[in-house]
Amino acid sequence: MSIRSHIDGLRETVPPGVTLVAVSKFHPAETVREAYDAGLRVFGESRVQELVAKKELLPGDIEWHFIGNLQRNKVKQIAPFISLIHSLDNERLMLEIEKQGAANDRVIHCLLQIHIAEEETKSGFSRDKCRQFLEEGRWKACPHVRIAGVMGMATFTDDRNQVREEFRQLKSLFDELKTGYFPDDPAFKEISMGMTGDYQVAIEEGSTMVRIGTLIFGSR
Ligand SMILES: *Cc1c(COP(=O)(O)O)cnc(C)c1O
Repeated sequence: MSIRSHIDGLRETVPPGVTLVAVSKFHPAETVREAYDAGLRVFGESRVQELVAKKELLPGDIEWHFIGNLQRNKVKQIAPFISLIHSLDNERLMLEIEKQGAANDRVIHCLLQIHIAEEETKSGFSRDKCRQFLEEGRWKACPHVRIAGVMGMATFTDDRNQVREEFRQLKSLFDELKTGYFPDDPAFKEISMGMTGDYQVAIEEGSTMVRIGTLIFGSR
């Protein structure tokens, strides 16, 4: 099956209001180009060096999203062009994004990454840490950072009910934060959840943005 036919198949299951982010990490620029030629314009990468190298080889109207763990000392390299950072999960990172956004005279849209899975990982705010972060309010003094919603990854498991429950928790946190901190901010609207194995459940639970790699490009 070709990349184009994978994308056509996906278009039938991803409703128009849900953004499809094609996760192109580990795939070469020529492969990304095939997805571009099939009509996709939003691509997600998880490593800065790889992203910057690929961007150089591909059309300028691609909207690049950063979806991985982001080191502060690398923000500078993506600040001039990145459309959305899905992985804001600590204050020091926010302050660096603010600094680089200011240096580039850009407002950088970011999602708060929330740890919803059962697995231990260092990335993502716990729900309480996220509430605390918003309550402290230092983000309000960062005009070059725009908090545009939340992102989360469910546990890697065959248990559909567990995955569904985790997505529900993310949606419910989104609703709570929207009401509490962003009621009048139209930019706070995204719930980035769902990957190849669980995107249909994620859409049923309110995802506005799915991040799909394997189903488009094959295995990495
Ligand atoms: C790799 C990755 C994806 C895509 O995963 P697939 O299972 O290949 O669709 C989505 N989100 C994040 C954060 C990733 O790192």
